[in-house]
Amino acid sequence: MNHASNPQSTNRRVVRFDQSEIIIGLEVHVQLDTDSKLFCGCSTRFGGAANSQTCVVCTGMPGSLPVINQHALELSIRAGLSLNCQIAQSTKWDRKNYFYPDLPKGYQISQFDQPICGPGYLDIEAVENSSQPRRIRIERAHLEEDAGKSIHDESNRGQNSKIDLNRTGTPLLEIVTQPDLRSAAEAKSFLSELKLILNYIDVSDCNMQQGNLRCDANVNLHIPFGEEKIATPIVEIKNLNSFRAVERSITHEAQRQFEAWQENGFTIADAPKQTRGWNDHTQSTTLQREKEDSADYRYFPDPDLIAVKIEEVQIQQIKSQLGSLPSDLRKLLIERYNLKSADATVMVSQGRGVVNYFLEVADGCENSRIANNWIGQEVLRQLNESNQTIDQYPVSPQQFTELLKLVIAGTLDQTRGKEVLNEMVEHCISSQEAIKRLGIKPVDNRELVTLCEKLIAENQEVIEQIQSGNAKAIGMLIGQARKLNPNANPGLIKEMLSKMISS
Ligand SMILES: [Zn+2]
Repeated sequence: MNHASNPQSTNRRVVRFDQSEIIIGLEVHVQLDTDSKLFCGCSTRFGGAANSQTCVVCTGMPGSLPVINQHALELSIRAGLSLNCQIAQSTKWDRKNYFYPDLPKGYQISQFDQPICGPGYLDIEAVENSSQPRRIRIERAHLEEDAGKSIHDESNRGQNSKIDLNRTGTPLLEIVTQPDLRSAAEAKSFLSELKLILNYIDVSDCNMQQGNLRCDANVNLHIPFGEEKIATPIVEIKNLNSFRAVERSITHEAQRQFEAWQENGFTIADAPKQTRGWNDHTQSTTLQREKEDSADYRYFPDPDLIAVKIEEVQIQQIKSQLGSLPSDLRKLLIERYNLKSADATVMVSQGRGVVNYFLEVADGCENSRIANNWIGQEVLRQLNESNQTIDQYPVSPQQFTELLKLVIAGTLDQTRGKEVLNEMVEHCISSQEAIKRLGIKPVDNRELVTLCEKLIAENQEVIEQIQSGNAKAIGMLIGQARKLNPNANPGLIKEMLSKMISS
């Protein structure tokens, strides 16, 4: 295989795509959940009239001076700590110079060589064939201001383009990973976990429709070729704003790079880094530009802003208020509450409010399995249908606990229990009130005996089936019992019928 040093297209055709490894690094832009912008007091509210949330600072008027938003710093530290990052003791601001119509200053205030958060990592659950969780290293996370928004004439007649500067100057945290991700599915898994963490610690709502979490993916391939491993040129896919776009664009780009390499044999040494855009309509990436490197931006320290000192005591204080992270809670639910891993994942993915609700109910009724079944199924379904959050759910954890105690004690069977829950939700009432409204009364033993005698007398054929060994036929009798008296407990009926039939 000494063709490898001078690869011919025919030799390259022998290599299969699935033998190559996909190397992915992500740059994730997260809009921090502050009320005001990074360097002025303008509101960051989404959806205001165009250019209604601007001032001399964020529109770059000469002589105006930026003032740092302390809350943005605190949220960045919170994010860094939850990603196991080193927090800088001193961080500074740099101007990143470039021209863009929606960047009125002609530069963006960012952080070049002293980011607020240094190296860290995030562990993600195993995806696909690998059974081990994977540790994805974070290279850094830095604060910067967002640019504005260009709105191009959509009639396509070239009429005009408009600029909205409401977003200009809103705080972004850019989180940069090492190229540790190995598949589109892993990239998606990393982003989901990151989004969940940032939600849990109230750093960002990560609303992707509003552009509050956007992502660039750096992608290339390592292809085994003879004795060598060939690296293809790196491509940065810009501005991915949905998990689906991340997954599909990486899958597409990997395949495209493989085909390009088979065609032209270019390696990372032969071509500069490229920037490509993802087109959702054609489901393909298109070349935007050959990537500029940091020297093209002429970074220099912003003379209007002084370096920020971060005291260890401040870091410790923020750390102490961080609360449990999703991974801690999954572990707690599995180890202390005996939930299956998949159930714990579902519960934690619903957010901190749902987990707290579950913990309170599971502790209250002392049965985490039943609490999980009811909350994981009934409550989540009801929340989903009514488009409510758990804070808006009309049944308090205490009331829910009371209901589950009745189910656990057998006073209410599953079906009756669900009817009671629906009544509680619909009328915002306690389980006792719901039981009264539904006319549910305990059935005494004598009533049950009369009911069973009636069933046996009227269903001789079924009784014979049961006696000749068809135990399942008893289900028909229980169905009838429920119609005759909805309050009769199916479990008790079954027990009594079995005894009476076999005696
Ligand atoms: Zn402003």
